[in-house]
Parts: sequence; C-alpha cells; structure tokens
Amino acid sequence: MGNKCCSRRHDPDRPLVYPAYKNEAGFTACPSSLETRYTGEPNTRVLSRPPADIVRTRNPGKCITNGGRRVVKALCAYTARADSDISFRKGDRMEVLSDAEPDWWRVLHLTTRREGLVPVNFVAEESSVECEEPSSCCSWFFPHVSRKEADKLLLAESNPRGTFLVRPAEHNPHGFSLSVKDWEEGRGYHVKHYKIKPLDNGGFYIATNQTFPSLPALVMSYTKNALGLCHVLARPCPKPEPQMWDLGPELRDKWEIPRSEIQLIRKLGQGNFGEVYYGKWRNNIEVAVKTLREGTMSTQAFLQEAAIMKKFRHKRLVALYAVCSTQEPVYIVQEYMSKGSLLEFLRNGEGKFLQFEDLVYVAAQVASGMEYLESKMLIHRDLAARNVLIGENNVAKICDFGLARVIEDNEYCPKQGSRFPVKWTAPEAIIYGRFSIKSDVWSYGILLMELFTYGQIPYPGLHGKDVIEQVERGYRMPKPVGHYLPDDIYRLMLQCWDAIPEKRPTFEFLNHYFESFTVTSEIPYREVQD
Ligand code: AMP
Repeated sequence: MGNKCCSRRHDPDRPLVYPAYKNEAGFTACPSSLETRYTGEPNTRVLSRPPADIVRTRNPGKCITNGGRRVVKALCAYTARADSDISFRKGDRMEVLSDAEPDWWRVLHLTTRREGLVPVNFVAEESSVECEEPSSCCSWFFPHVSRKEADKLLLAESNPRGTFLVRPAEHNPHGFSLSVKDWEEGRGYHVKHYKIKPLDNGGFYIATNQTFPSLPALVMSYTKNALGLCHVLARPCPKPEPQMWDLGPELRDKWEIPRSEIQLIRKLGQGNFGEVYYGKWRNNIEVAVKTLREGTMSTQAFLQEAAIMKKFRHKRLVALYAVCSTQEPVYIVQEYMSKGSLLEFLRNGEGKFLQFEDLVYVAAQVASGMEYLESKMLIHRDLAARNVLIGENNVAKICDFGLARVIEDNEYCPKQGSRFPVKWTAPEAIIYGRFSIKSDVWSYGILLMELFTYGQIPYPGLHGKDVIEQVERGYRMPKPVGHYLPDDIYRLMLQCWDAIPEKRPTFEFLNHYFESFTVTSEIPYREVQD
C-alpha cells in the first residue's frame, strides 16, 4: 500500500475502497469499519480509517517503493486507445508503478506483464495484507449514488429481487442507506430503502436489536438471513461503467487533436453553433462532434472558454473531450449522448412516455449539475431543455455551459437577436445584461415547465417581445392545463421566477428538493418486519 503520510479529498467519481474478504456465499465484504467524518462539501466523506485510494503518495512521478506492492483490480473491462495505455478485463490485477497523474496511473499488468497507463476510475485498490482473500473492493458500496439513482440502477431488468447496494445517507452525514430491490404482488418491482444508523462505538445497525461492529459485517449478516428486511441481500448491484473524461492518456492535457482522427458518421442535428454529428475517434470511440459555423465566435475566445469547460467535471455535465481548431470549421468533440436533446426526447422520443417520477428524476439531475456549476461559480447563461442531453436509462447531462458568453452572432445578442432565448432569460439579464447563477435559476424554472409539459414552448401563444413586457409587469406563466403538475412544484417555479434574483432558491436547494420529492423518508426497519 502507498505512503500513508498524506491523504487527499476523494475524487467523486472514484469508488471508495476497503480491505475485503469473501464469505461462504462468495459474497465480497470488508472487515474494516466504515466510520465517516463529514467535511461539509457535497459528496465528500472522509473515512476515519482512510482506505487505500485516498492515501496515495503525492510525489509527482515518484515510483512507489515502500516495501509493499500496491495492487489494483479492474472494476470493468477497458480497451486501450493509444500506445501508452493497456487493455484489461474486469477483475484483472495490476501493480501500481506510479500514481503521479490524477487520472491515469502507470501499472504493470500481473497476467500479461504489460506495462502502461490505465484510467484511474476503472480500477480500485486491492486489499491490504489483512485480507484473507483479496478482492477489489466492497462492490456493494456506491459512494456517490443518490436515492433516485439507486432506484434507477436497481430497477434494471437484469437485476433479480434482492439485488442491493449501500450508499451514504442523504440526511445523516454519519449514516448510510441500504437499498434493496423487492417484488410484491400487485406492486411489482420496487426498491426499499433502509436507514443504517451509526453507533457511538463505531458500529452500525438497522434494527436496534441487531448491531454490527462494521458496515461490511452488517451487510454480510443480511446476505445470510433477511432478519426482517424485505429480502435476503442476494447480490450487489452491478456498477455502471465509469465516465471517461479524456479520449486517451496522451490527450489529458493536450486536447487539440488532428481532424483526420475524427470520422463524421451521421448528422444528429442543427444547433446554435452549427451542425452536430455522431462520429468516431480513431474509428473506435463514439463521440458527438459540434462544428462551429464560421463567424459564430472567435476561435480564440472559444478556446479560452473550452479550456475552462474542460476543467469542470461532473457526472451531470457532458464531457468535453477535445477540439480541432486549426482549421475552419472548428470541431468540438464531446461525449455522445444516445437519446439527444431533452427537448426532442420529450416531444418526439421515448421521453413522451416518461412517468411523473422520471420527470422528477430528470429535474433532480439537472439541478445536481447546476449545483456543481453554482459551487464553482460558473454561469451557464443558456439553460434550457434544448441544452440538456439524454443518455441511456434517462441519464441527463447539461451541455454548452459557458458557451453563450462567447457567441458573437448578433442574432444571439439580448438587444438585437431574433434567436436570443428571451423566454428562458431572467428580466435583469435581458434588460441590463446581468447574468448570474440566479438568472440560471430563472431559466431552470422555465426548463421545469418544459419538462412537466413534455416539451411545450414556454408562454404558449405569446411572442418573445410581449413576454419581456408582461414579465416586467409581474406576469408569470400559469400552471399548465392538461399536464400533471403538483402545486408544490408550481410554487417552486414561481420562486425561481422571483423578480428579485437574491430571493430565488439556490441550485443546492433545488437539487435537494427534487432528490427527496415524492419520497417519504427511509422505511423504518420495524415497519417492514411487521
Ligand atoms: P446543439 O448545438 O447543442 O443545440 O445540438 C443540436 C442537436 O444535436 C441537439 O438537439 C442534439 O439532438 C444533438 N446533440 C448535440 N450534442 C450532442 C451530444 N453530445 N450527443 C448526442 N447528440 C447531441
């Protein structure tokens, strides 16, 4: 294991890792306790006994030679993209040679004996020497999954009843939640959530009469006997494939790529900046390519903005992979989102059939991405359903954040443009050019209306110019007719459209609101037992 002298904040997209062993049922668990300390930052928990992956040596470029080998295990398969990285299969073991780079570690593959870089979020540190039978990690622990995401993951058809995961509790910084897929006559498949409460001595319990010295001990016990849960814990929920932030290891800093490496395969649509294509990088990796119409923005300004965008990483923001900017038209190479824009999805795609809970899930995801931008003090300026993209499983991600600022096109200008998104923009931004995170909150309120009306144009029947006048006089979009929209959510929209920007809610609040919407708190254990 690496040098323990310095720890660092856990990367929100990396799983936490604990020493582990298997029980008779072949179930992987870890003997160490999972006490937590809350740092006050969203998604940031520091374990009182830090697991291996948050106690890395931080010496740039220095090899790890502290006597013991540091071994990682693959959480899922990866195919090499360049000469410098290596392929591996799920479960393969690799020795860490250098962890100097935050995203790519140099390893020695212990089976193929090949040496090269691997993406850090595809591997997890293997057990320490205490483990009887080393394993990659507590595969049931999902450190960055919310309740709604847990529902989505567990309800996948391929998961049988009893599939489960453990995640940090949303309202108790020291507690956890156990989410289990269940089935009942008349109700079908659904997910039950149990509170796991901490004990003062470091242990955990769901029911006060069954306490455990550690979280793994608790989980393992419930894999043998349901002990009042809806079902015995049958198998850990499969983890989704980790997000890639770069096209390859050599492109982590140098992300200007040769145009010849991009194959444009089919046109996806026409956007604000130019045409958008589905394509492949090196005939291999799926990407979306935005072509920038000449004159839309200065290449220089765009590259500055893109450099900022490249630094922001969140699972609810579309990843910017690379650019081709040496010739016109400039290409912006992005993560490909298979279901296209939220607007099209709701109007003409599978989104037409979304249930109310699914719409709430999309609202929560967009608020989560915006909460991240809010925390980084970045303003989107053009938040709307057309700028949210949908992937598999109703995953929603925000795109084009920051780009509106560098558009030179007059048509996109508040004062003159016919294409300026008047209906989405807060009055102070239209009139005085005062864009802020609070003007984004206004736009989010409009996006909510688009969402709950399945893509209806805001202020139906009103022309943009009239909207500015009416809104200035205090008019607000009424509650829609013919669509289900609870009064609570409509009231929240009105708060987003408060004339005084400071009175509008924060994205942190909005995310919290939608994450816990329709949800009664976790089921008390006894209720389930009875
Ligand atoms: P935009 O320039 O963002 O308005 O994009 C125009 C259209 O291209 C959108 O409505 C989407 O259907 C499609 N599109 C844009 N970006 C992506 C992406 N990253 N993945 C998939 N489709 C995209």
